[in-house]
Amino acid sequence: MNLEYDAKEQQFRKQVRSFIEANLPADLRAKVLNHKRLTREDYRKWHLILYAQGWVAPNWPREYGGAAWTPVQRHIWEEETTRAGAPNVISFGINMLGPVLMEFGTKAQKDHYLPRILNCEDWWCQGYSEPGSGSDLASLKTSAEWIEDESGAYYLVNGQKTWTTLAQHANMIFCLVRTTTSMRKQEGISFLLINMKSQGVSLRPIITLDEDHEINEVFFDNVRVPVDNLVGEENLGWTYAKYLLSHERNNVAEVGRSKRELRFLKHLAMTTPSQNGSLLDDPLFARKVALLEAEMMALEITNLRVVSSDHGNSEPGPEVSMLKIVGTEVQQRLTELMVETVGPYSLPFDVDFLEGRRETAVTGHDAAAPLTAHYLNFRKASIYGGSNEIQKNIISRMILGL
Ligand SMILES: Cc1cc2nc3c(=O)[nH]c(=O)nc-3n(C[C@H](O)[C@H](O)[C@H](O)COP(=O)(O)OP(=O)(O)OC[C@H]3O[C@@H](n4cnc5c(N)ncnc54)[C@H](O)[C@@H]3O)c2cc1C
Repeated sequence: MNLEYDAKEQQFRKQVRSFIEANLPADLRAKVLNHKRLTREDYRKWHLILYAQGWVAPNWPREYGGAAWTPVQRHIWEEETTRAGAPNVISFGINMLGPVLMEFGTKAQKDHYLPRILNCEDWWCQGYSEPGSGSDLASLKTSAEWIEDESGAYYLVNGQKTWTTLAQHANMIFCLVRTTTSMRKQEGISFLLINMKSQGVSLRPIITLDEDHEINEVFFDNVRVPVDNLVGEENLGWTYAKYLLSHERNNVAEVGRSKRELRFLKHLAMTTPSQNGSLLDDPLFARKVALLEAEMMALEITNLRVVSSDHGNSEPGPEVSMLKIVGTEVQQRLTELMVETVGPYSLPFDVDFLEGRRETAVTGHDAAAPLTAHYLNFRKASIYGGSNEIQKNIISRMILGL
């Protein structure tokens, strides 16, 4: 394993850094660094800036309009964008659906959808989970029945999805649907693209503990879906779903983001008075920070080992489960220590402040105001993308051979 960056990679880092300095809007940067919420327009703005530069899809090949960067380049990009406080590019189109269409889609699907993902004309959401079918995803029940009548052939979709992230912004959803019940449960699933504006699609917000509207329930009531919207072959959707999940788990450790948050935590603790000076001088608190930092450094090295061994862009293996578990534990621990740092000032979190309707916090200081919301929101990290318990099952089976 070589963890040194070569001259070309160092040059690439410089190029990325100067691009970000020149192009990342100050208002977006301030929102991200101060834990404020981003709107649909905020995400879109940064997406389109990257699109104009040809950098919005680092993982896509050039023939489809991607940047075709190596895993190391993507890692540098991730480090530099998170360090600077750039918003994430929403991954449903770029990281999840895009690779599936390139591998399994028809030419017509690629020609139509891939450019629209790049230029943000379509906002995709992910319709995998259902009530009762999360970890046991293959038990999903949303049905798609092949119908042929005088209007032609179509799928008639009925059922419900849940936890659908940012579906309120989306005009398209990629769904796993059951096309037959007569086979083994993994074998009767298909992968369907559904227009959210179709008659019979409705959406109900799920408001989370932090009073945010980030996730939704999505209902399908006799929704007609053109048969051309089937990806690949009928009943082979499980294969495509797994392929997609392997891409979803890219950059799962989120080390760049955690490093930025650690800097924030240290600054916060340094400016918080305590008996011996600042809270960061308090030996008990300093110990907690040091332990977390050590854990994070170990995570970073493991992440770099995975990145540097991925020369051929091969699908990530079970080691990604380790990155998911430790990465999310670190993220959650950071949010806990932030709340601990500001103590009682973290209590009255203020949604108007978070969403930019008020400029200053009602009580306490501005840096403290979003932290409880942030802490509550991050409980999700150990659940989504496959819960940490499920990742442990993967490790026990595929790494430890138990
Ligand atoms: C904020 C958020 C956003 C999400 N966004 C999306 C989205 O956009 N699209 C989408 O399709 N899904 C999304 N999800 C769903 C997510 O993938 C599921 O929540 C996750 O897979 C867990 O499934 P579940 O919630 O049904 O819990 P369950 O599967 O019911 O699990 C409940 C608990 O039991 C444990 N458990 C279950 N089975 C086992 C087992 N075999 N061994 C050990 N422990 C087990 C789990 O780890 C968990 O702790 C999102 C979830 C969250 C929280």
